[in-house]
Amino acid sequence: MPLSEFGLIERYFRHCGVTREDVRLGVGDDAALLECPPGQHLVAAMDTLVDGVHFPHGAPPASIGYRALAVNLSDLAAMGARAAWALLALTLPEADEAWLSQFTAGFARLARLHRVALVGGDTTRGPLSVTVQVLGHVSGPAMLRSGGRPGHALFVSGTPGDAAAGLALEQGRWPESQGAQYLRERFLFPTPRMELGERLREYASACIDVSDGLLGDAGKLAAASGCGAQIAYADLPLSEPLVRVAGAERAHELALTGGDDYELCFSVGPGQLESLLAKMPPQRWGYTRIGTLREAPGTEVVRDGVAVKLAHSGYDHFSEPA
Ligand code: ADP
Ligand code: MG
Repeated sequence: MPLSEFGLIERYFRHCGVTREDVRLGVGDDAALLECPPGQHLVAAMDTLVDGVHFPHGAPPASIGYRALAVNLSDLAAMGARAAWALLALTLPEADEAWLSQFTAGFARLARLHRVALVGGDTTRGPLSVTVQVLGHVSGPAMLRSGGRPGHALFVSGTPGDAAAGLALEQGRWPESQGAQYLRERFLFPTPRMELGERLREYASACIDVSDGLLGDAGKLAAASGCGAQIAYADLPLSEPLVRVAGAERAHELALTGGDDYELCFSVGPGQLESLLAKMPPQRWGYTRIGTLREAPGTEVVRDGVAVKLAHSGYDHFSEPA
């Protein structure tokens, strides 16, 4: 017999993620009651994943659950915040229990890793769509996009471009080859940089998470900071599988314009640079200097002393050709 809405909530959502003492009341009543640590700011973010838009139709349900939380956690990481609670609005075409148990397993895997409790949500019937809201807190000032200044060094974590290649492979647009599985995983199960974000609060002047392509998102950071950015083509951190699967040229292009990486792009002023590099060694923390903020507006990629032209700068839902 198919489960009722109440049955679904009881089975799949009441005990998803971790149990936290600061949850006075979680799933089951009309609203959740949460306790924010005194003196800290509550940080809130929300993101929606639509079937066929943010993930390929028929994507593994565990990946959909995992990514729905990951993309939200990534926004908190970019603020230097620590996550605590999540709400989940799920629209499903049908109450498919096999799908639901894999979906919640994926969600719960990441929730446990970052000590997030699922405290509420909504369940409706309709075309598949997943909205997650995460709540967390930050003590002291959060990292904003707007704190960068000309001359500040620009960094990115991880190896951008991997997820875009992984998506191309998932969709069968690229042939299978060695390294493909690694790239697929980068798309299906991205790593929100929670610890890096929290630690960077001490050093970074500005920070943004890279969801729509490094070039575009670095440009957003620069614009919010009232400056421009120069990125060194040769300094882009590329993963070995990406170069192997895509070739060097395409790998650079994907690192600049591919989406879905959920890495952090951040700027660091001259006063903090030395202590950042000393206290948080780039090799150990997995980040790379890619350029510098500058007075002149706009984002420029410099290759062999020449500014390169790119076909497009990133993903924008409302400016894609039809
Ligand atoms: P109401 O009609 O009062 O909004 P619901 O029946 O929608 O109540 O939800 C009952 C309880 O289950 C609430 O605590 C709600 O937050 C929770 N809930 C519903 N759907 C989800 C979900 N997908 N994930 C987590 N909690 C959910
Ligand atoms: Mg409701």
